[in-house]
Amino acid sequence: MNWHKEIGQKLGLTGRVLIAEEGINATVEGITDSVQAYISAIREQSFANLKETPIKTSPGNGEAFPKLKVKVRKEIVALGLTEVEGEDVDPNQLTGIHLKPEELKAWYENNEDFVVIDMRNDFEFRSGHFKNSINPEMEYFRDLPKVLPKLVEKHPEITKKKVLTVCTGGVRCEKASGYLLKKGFKDVYQLDGGMHMYMDKFPGKTGEEFKGTLYTFDNRITMDVSGDGSDPRAKERREIIGECQVCKAKTERYDHCAYDMCHRHILVCDDCAKNHIYVWCTPECREVSLKTGPEAMKQVGVGAVITDGLPYSAAPGIGPKL
Ligand SMILES: [Zn+2]
Ligand SMILES: [Zn+2]
Repeated sequence: MNWHKEIGQKLGLTGRVLIAEEGINATVEGITDSVQAYISAIREQSFANLKETPIKTSPGNGEAFPKLKVKVRKEIVALGLTEVEGEDVDPNQLTGIHLKPEELKAWYENNEDFVVIDMRNDFEFRSGHFKNSINPEMEYFRDLPKVLPKLVEKHPEITKKKVLTVCTGGVRCEKASGYLLKKGFKDVYQLDGGMHMYMDKFPGKTGEEFKGTLYTFDNRITMDVSGDGSDPRAKERREIIGECQVCKAKTERYDHCAYDMCHRHILVCDDCAKNHIYVWCTPECREVSLKTGPEAMKQVGVGAVITDGLPYSAAPGIGPKL
């Protein structure tokens, strides 16, 4: 832990580093040379077997993270299974077959018969996802054990089909794919390095196998995946699939639920953001924040428009048809 702090500070990096027994998950930002120096240093470290671990880089604006945080966690990805006896998955023992971005590209090109299960949270899925994706509609990743039976009920064929789990950086899939295997899925793959690495390898592919934009967990919120501009057709293919929670207009603009204690990311278009002072994710959030919120919020209504959020689970845009 101290090693990461020291070297990070020396190189002037910002970001987030999580360390657990099962591995490490680091997202850092800095000038190119510093990031490269950090990567080389990690690869050389004897305490971690990271020589082969995929490490992704992408250009940023230097403002993704305010500072460097290093934390030690029990599990890197809180699947919430450690407490339930017999339900935890050790990705070192049980995990899906790693599929390289090139291999996934070939699957799409050859019209391979497979289904993508998107292991990100529902709000991430809404602004963009791979073709043929199923959205388990998770609010948190730890909901997986809860939503999986419903998912299988809705798509009974998936337990026998070729299934690929995907997530932003590939970390969640280590556990998620193992969990599917534990639950009786027969043919499970996971996307190596996640969507991020796929976009790095094949920039400008938006509109073909990936629809919309990629949600990111840093201050950029979404990452334009239409490439570096070298392929003009990529811009043409670019399609916005996110829907404004209020008016249903296509948008990729994320806002926060106006209830401070919730603050969940919701899609709200520019017009609605201008026209409504507060937008909540659910009527429940609206109710509680109008009761307990700041005075300004309680008094809103005089000359201001308040919009009820749709019930979270009833909002449109969830779960594409197979
Ligand atoms: Zn709107
Ligand atoms: Zn809310």
